[in-house]
Amino acid sequence: MTPPPLTPSVASSGIVLRPDLPICQTDLPLDWYQEEFKPYAEEYLALPDRKPGTVLPWLDRYAIPACEHFGDSLLLLAHFYMGGEVVKLVERYGGTIADSYVLALQASRNPEKRVIVESAVHFMAETIAILAGDHQSVWITNPKAGCTMEMLAKEWMVLPAAEQLVARYGDDLAVVAYMNTGGRLKALAGRTNGAVCTSSNAHKIVAQIRKEGRKVLFVPDHHLGRNTAWKLGMPLDRVVQLAEPRQWAQGMKLGDASAPGGIAALDAAEMILWGSYCGVHTIFRREHVEWWRAHGWKVLVHPESPLEVVQAADGSGSTDFLWKAVQNAQPGERLAIGTEGHFVRNARELARARGVEVMHLTEIPEPGFPAAGCGCATMSRNDPPHLAGILDLLRRGKGPDLNRVLAGDVVDETSGRRERLEPDDRAEMIRDARRALERMIEITEAAG
Ligand code: SF4
Repeated sequence: MTPPPLTPSVASSGIVLRPDLPICQTDLPLDWYQEEFKPYAEEYLALPDRKPGTVLPWLDRYAIPACEHFGDSLLLLAHFYMGGEVVKLVERYGGTIADSYVLALQASRNPEKRVIVESAVHFMAETIAILAGDHQSVWITNPKAGCTMEMLAKEWMVLPAAEQLVARYGDDLAVVAYMNTGGRLKALAGRTNGAVCTSSNAHKIVAQIRKEGRKVLFVPDHHLGRNTAWKLGMPLDRVVQLAEPRQWAQGMKLGDASAPGGIAALDAAEMILWGSYCGVHTIFRREHVEWWRAHGWKVLVHPESPLEVVQAADGSGSTDFLWKAVQNAQPGERLAIGTEGHFVRNARELARARGVEVMHLTEIPEPGFPAAGCGCATMSRNDPPHLAGILDLLRRGKGPDLNRVLAGDVVDETSGRRERLEPDDRAEMIRDARRALERMIEITEAAG
């Protein structure tokens, strides 16, 4: 197999490959790597720089033999929020770059792919595994790549609260689980005849549950939940956020301390919010939006941002919405985008070639507006040595069990270890989670 030439080019996702542009990804210390990955990390750390012209040829040494070995049965996946060479390598070898919803469908849409290697966070790989066939195996390049929002909504935190709420409200309560949850919470949504949702269809799912006259328990992101309620015109005093997530795992009982306004507020609520959030999207403030708008820029933000930011912006929507907004912008347009940093960097490269200016919402050239980091730091743990390593280890038949993703796995992102369900329990969990995913598709399609 001959790798494509390293010249500036636009890949099918629209992401620009520039061999001279250094990647925006911090090197990990050697002791952060699993033993099996250290040889690849040592080679990578010894490279003279982090430019694609240097890194990609090194990655090719491992990617080409793996692609030749697996042929058409190998599928490489990465999320839009992945930075640097990982995205470019995945595209270079025919893989797919997408948002979490499209990634989730890749195993079922491509039944000929038997080995699926994902460079993104764990819940995304697990959702692929929920929908995968028995003949398909799903691998994550780094098991320590967790979503911080999902890390504050593990089943052992949410279940004690959900069980008490179900005991109080019975069938009148439906769990709506954002895609950014582990499979066990998606299964909880299925068991309550709720549904999974994404940031683009959350309003359709919540509207349907409310039309059924049921109360929503929205997990895990309280910002997306509140923004969805606002979008639907729900009175915000009927949207109640539960007490801090870890307190529920420590034995919090439903009562006056479990939410502002206590039991009375929960009884009156149309929507109850779990208290997790995304650290990447909660750095945005109304002043950021106002600064760009005052300077003639259009502002678009992701709905994991705080309500006041969404209300002040010109528009809000999912990763896919933001990507299309950049693709469809007219020459001369100027867009300030409030979402993950690698995404904005990739979008800027795409837009520049068409005469469209794109800036990150925090990139304000004035004191008092500190710059944000590169982006989703936990997702970026899937760095080039992990991708080289997993491809080479799989080719040699030595894929580490820590990197194998099965539905229902609960991961400790500090150690990378995973707690697995027994096969019968896993099958039941998959059935319940698929029910919630199918209900999402039904509601979304019916709503048009
Ligand atoms: S950007 Fe936020 S919500 Fe998205 S994967 Fe990273 S931590 Fe999770």
